[in-house]
Amino acid sequence: MTMILPPLALYIHVPWCVRKCPYCDFNSHAQREPLPEAEYIRTLLNDLEDESIFAQGREINSIFIGGGTPSLFSADSYKALLQSIDHIIPIARNAEITLEANPGTFEQEKFLGYKDAGINRLSIGIQTFNDAQLQGLGRIHSASEAIKAASLARELFPKLNLDLMHGLPQQSQNDALDDIQQAIALEPDHLSWYQLTIEPNTEFHAKPPQLPVDETLWSIQEQGVSLIHDAGFNQYEISAYAKGDNRSQHNENYWEFGDYLGIGAGAHGKITLLDEQKIIRRWKQKQPKSYMQPTTRLVGHETIQAEDLAFEFMLNALRLYDGVPTSLLTDRTGLSKNDIKIAVNKAIKQGLLSPSPERLKPTQQGRLFLNDLLAIFLD
Ligand code: SF4
Repeated sequence: MTMILPPLALYIHVPWCVRKCPYCDFNSHAQREPLPEAEYIRTLLNDLEDESIFAQGREINSIFIGGGTPSLFSADSYKALLQSIDHIIPIARNAEITLEANPGTFEQEKFLGYKDAGINRLSIGIQTFNDAQLQGLGRIHSASEAIKAASLARELFPKLNLDLMHGLPQQSQNDALDDIQQAIALEPDHLSWYQLTIEPNTEFHAKPPQLPVDETLWSIQEQGVSLIHDAGFNQYEISAYAKGDNRSQHNENYWEFGDYLGIGAGAHGKITLLDEQKIIRRWKQKQPKSYMQPTTRLVGHETIQAEDLAFEFMLNALRLYDGVPTSLLTDRTGLSKNDIKIAVNKAIKQGLLSPSPERLKPTQQGRLFLNDLLAIFLD
């Protein structure tokens, strides 16, 4: 069985924020001096030049500019960046191009400029509309700024995602549901609604805040999902909800085990090498200063071992509520149905995987106990 070249996406990381939020474990660095914006954009393009051999004739189907806080950079920088990217690797005409924006760095002119630069999907990190809770999360924006930013983005961009968190310190069930209602009223076509978790190497880990008790978390989850569904959104992944066909193309590509180049400090890439019939990962230096030095930019690369391929594929594919066509396993990994037959049968027997031969799809039980389901493919 042979793998075929999957669609290609591009992830671009901008690693600075105005300040570091106490719950954040992303590769983000508090801005202490003027940002080296022009130098960083040049470095991104050099990075892409080096990666361009991995395109293997493909166009870029989606671009995601994440962070950090990408909206710290100007629209002119992104315009120049996207134009140059298109010269290095052509960007597909209908590519989804997302930029993450923080309402605290929001300015009306910037949003207009982003649109003009070619950004067609804005993802705004709102988290909550409760000012006290925003402060507790260390966010620099207010609820009214978030509302203004989202309203303008809705007018300007064909696609709009709002990021919301729940399970926040001091948050009641009503607070969490109120956040969802306010988000829905702003008419996004996509919601990312995820629970706050305390991650190692964060301020919250060192000084944990008091989180809602399990009973409250459970009822927020249950009622929140049904509120979002009632507003016409479909949950298609653990934290992702879309109206109509407005799923995030970029994230779906990850979950369908597509390829992606990663440029920027700390960015990761996953690439299929067609001639060698293997899949590699490459990752970049996390510290912005070292990333900007050509000799220290790439810090690691590895080949995904044949025995890990089934697990790696499932780790992504089973996050999707609809699962994936069974044939995708061969296209993406070169494995055949027979290679995973024992694990599939075991998962079906345990009620974790749906018995359809056409799709690899978790059951409701499988979604609830995803780690148990994945562990079967690890064996
Ligand atoms: S704004 Fe986002 S990326 Fe930056 S520190 Fe806060 S959570 Fe992390």
